[in-house]
Amino acid sequence: MDLTLSPRERDLQERAASFARTQLFPNEMAIEEHGSLPGDILARLRKEVLAAGFNAINHSREHGGQGLSLFEQTLVNEQFGMATGGIGGVAWQPAIPLKEGTPEQLRRYLEPSCRGERTYCFAISEADAGSDPRQVKTTAVRLGSRYYLSGEKWFVTHGDIADFIMVHALVDGDPEKPTVFLVDKDRPGIRVKRVPKFMHNFMSEHPEYIFEKVELGEEDILGTVGGGLDLTKDWFVETRLKIAAHCVGAATRATEIANNYAAERVQFGKPIREFQGIEFMLADMVVEIMAAKSLLYRIAWQASQRPDRKLAHAYASAVKLQASEMAGRVIDKALQILGGRGYMRENPVERLYRDVRVDRIWEGTSEVQRVVIGSQIKKRGLGIYTGWIATDY
Ligand SMILES: Cc1cc2nc3c(=O)[nH]c(=O)nc-3n(C[C@H](O)[C@H](O)[C@H](O)COP(=O)(O)OP(=O)(O)OC[C@H]3O[C@@H](n4cnc5c(N)ncnc54)[C@H](O)[C@@H]3O)c2cc1C
Repeated sequence: MDLTLSPRERDLQERAASFARTQLFPNEMAIEEHGSLPGDILARLRKEVLAAGFNAINHSREHGGQGLSLFEQTLVNEQFGMATGGIGGVAWQPAIPLKEGTPEQLRRYLEPSCRGERTYCFAISEADAGSDPRQVKTTAVRLGSRYYLSGEKWFVTHGDIADFIMVHALVDGDPEKPTVFLVDKDRPGIRVKRVPKFMHNFMSEHPEYIFEKVELGEEDILGTVGGGLDLTKDWFVETRLKIAAHCVGAATRATEIANNYAAERVQFGKPIREFQGIEFMLADMVVEIMAAKSLLYRIAWQASQRPDRKLAHAYASAVKLQASEMAGRVIDKALQILGGRGYMRENPVERLYRDVRVDRIWEGTSEVQRVVIGSQIKKRGLGIYTGWIATDY
């Protein structure tokens, strides 16, 4: 078993680290100051993304992406996850279900999205549909060959900078017909209800949307009528692995900052790292990161080698659960080591502390990940998680 990174993987990792250091870190505070990333900085960074070849790393070259494997994407996402305010999101990654589009949809949505000319957001959650997307009430009423979309969507990340919305709705209100619609934001009948503020300051907003009889056609359906839940699950697999990679990156950066500080900060006549109370925290932090990173790399590599929709869903939950809970614990300790300085917003550790809190909530809460894992154990046995590379579960 050879676990060394190939020269290509090491090069990718180094390029992503350099991009984070030179382009992302210097612009983090702009998000803190303005509440989101100012448009001129976003536009400039998007040009840098194209120049560095980090656009659409998750899509094939055929569609205009970089064609990176899931493992390679993970190496990049880990480095970008070190930056605060979700600023790594300037390197756009169009939603993976877009590749299921018709040739016309690929031309209208995916290909320009890969080039950075279009931006998506994905609207599933509603007031009464959070952990349980089956409770979605947004409905597309069918009249002949037309559909009329009505409902309300919450927490739509990137809603302010997107120009189209992937809306998860029920055709004719039928729970057996969950369907994803591609909805251009400038269609009549769409309006922003409000733009709430959240614990983190983020590169974009998370508005609430109202849809009132928005007219759509067959050509706006992604995949099939009734196929919406599978498409949404594909999106969850991708985003859960991405969140896990961000969490490993965030915990690593916080630990590096805490480690440097512990070496320099002198109290009671010696660097604080000489106190076992501090040294033990650092020891626990690195072991936690090592465990999460090992799991993340293994699952990302496995998914790259043997793509399997159901297994990917089962494993993505485990990785996301472990990495997001780990990041919360590790960054809390990093902040403690930094003392009062760790509580200052100008310190990246304070921002990482707020940033990673939502990683235990979005794309399925930690409890929902446990529900997925529990049901997989019942269905396939413990071995899916406690065994080694799955071939026969
Ligand atoms: C900043 C932010 C951005 C977001 N972006 C998007 C987006 O772009 N698109 C989108 O569609 N959604 C988005 N979301 C919504 C997010 O996915 C939901 O918040 C999340 O799925 C949880 O749903 P909920 O908030 O309604 O909580 P609820 O489902 O109401 O859960 C409340 C509590 O009950 C627990 N719970 C629920 N069911 C179970 C169970 N079976 N067993 C045990 N405990 C359970 C939960 O874990 C939680 O602790 C975003 C949320 C946030 C905060």
